[in-house]
Amino acid sequence: MNMSFTMRAENAKLLERVRDLIRNEAMPLEEEYQREVGTGDRWAYTERQTEILEGLKAKAKAEGLWNFWLTDSDKGFGLSTVEYAYFAEEMGKTPLGAEIFNCSAPDTGNMEVLERYGTEAMKQEWLKPLLAGEIRSAYLMTEPDVASSDATNVSMSCVRDGDHYVLNGEKWWSSGAGDPRCKVYITMVKTGGDDTPKHQRHSMIVVPAETPGIEILRAMEVYGHDDAPHGHMHIRFTNVRVPVENLLLGEGKGFEIAQGRLGPGRIHHCMRAIGQAEIALEQMCKRALDREAFGKKLAQLGANYDIIAECRMEIEMARLLCLKAAWYMDQGDARAAAPWISQIKVVAPRTALKVIDEAVQMFGGAGVSQDTPLATAWTHVRTLRLADGPDAVHRRQVARSELKKYTQEKV
Ligand SMILES: Cc1cc2nc3c(=O)[nH]c(=O)nc-3n(C[C@H](O)[C@H](O)[C@H](O)COP(=O)(O)OP(=O)(O)OC[C@H]3O[C@@H](n4cnc5c(N)ncnc54)[C@H](O)[C@@H]3O)c2cc1C
Repeated sequence: MNMSFTMRAENAKLLERVRDLIRNEAMPLEEEYQREVGTGDRWAYTERQTEILEGLKAKAKAEGLWNFWLTDSDKGFGLSTVEYAYFAEEMGKTPLGAEIFNCSAPDTGNMEVLERYGTEAMKQEWLKPLLAGEIRSAYLMTEPDVASSDATNVSMSCVRDGDHYVLNGEKWWSSGAGDPRCKVYITMVKTGGDDTPKHQRHSMIVVPAETPGIEILRAMEVYGHDDAPHGHMHIRFTNVRVPVENLLLGEGKGFEIAQGRLGPGRIHHCMRAIGQAEIALEQMCKRALDREAFGKKLAQLGANYDIIAECRMEIEMARLLCLKAAWYMDQGDARAAAPWISQIKVVAPRTALKVIDEAVQMFGGAGVSQDTPLATAWTHVRTLRLADGPDAVHRRQVARSELKKYTQEKV
């Protein structure tokens, strides 16, 4: 089989424009943007933040650099997953990167759901403004009271009452639900009883964020940070009434939708993590050359050459594995792609964490402080080892596909 990681010439040109916008326009504003958080209401955007973000979005949109993630649609550029990997890597280099081009999580996954399974009315009301970058969305699956890495445990009740469903229960880690622009939740609920087959008990329903009965209880903190104004919210639903038309695809179809939900998006986080690793290595090298101790540049001290070399080699390996997973996804055989997706979901954050940690070390005290983006990047990448599915769950997948080669028994 010929495996190719190349990019069509016209898309390589687009990538250059994305690279320029990120490097020359977004990255210089990143620090100022982050400093603004909390200078007013933590859960609102300051005037300056809005100016920066909307300014960059407008520029990207005006240049047609928008919704790259729509890889299999005529609305986007029709990038392959392999091609998108290079774009996502660039976007990962700054926390502003994905949103500038309307390629942020969880909106991309949610837009995919609305596009594939939404009714015309849903598309008009929610998909259209999401595609235009006018509103944002959240994906509500995880619950405080159940082990949510096994989504069959999801227990939020959803009971039909006339032409409405009534929802009761709690969700947490609802990323993006703190954002004042977040107007809609795609919510995983339980509609079937215990007599229904396990993977047909759940459904997905579109819930407008302002529906009565929805209460934001608190923002979950990530190593002490609330990630305002994006936020990972803990939300309670008490008798939340949602019209029956808001149910996606039908009762019991939750897992079918979840399978389709992330399409190529399943490895977007991995692709961006590689960008974060690249930027950390770049910062580490510059610091190692700029600063001196014991009469030598930091680069020349101790094992620092080895550390830099190891980081470069590990990034290269992770990128190739990511491209390989992307290539398998492009072949359209989800089963064949699955073990590669699981592998990169373990490897990409692990590699990025290692590189960022070495960069932190090279920066000394500044590395763990607010004066470099490294500390925030580390916490962000660390969460991926849970938020993108726990490592252990992905390793289980990898081991099972390996063991299956040698046995007919269920492993
Ligand atoms: C920053 C952040 C953002 C998030 N954003 C969202 C979001 O937007 N929407 C949303 O719905 N959820 C979100 N999540 C939640 C995330 O998806 C869950 O935390 C994750 O799925 C794990 O579920 P859990 O926390 O209930 O852990 P549990 O299911 O309780 O698992 C705990 C641990 O048990 C072990 N374990 C579980 N299964 C296995 C297995 N098969 N083999 C071996 N060990 C196993 C693992 O070590 C795992 O980490 C986010 C989480 C974080 C931290």
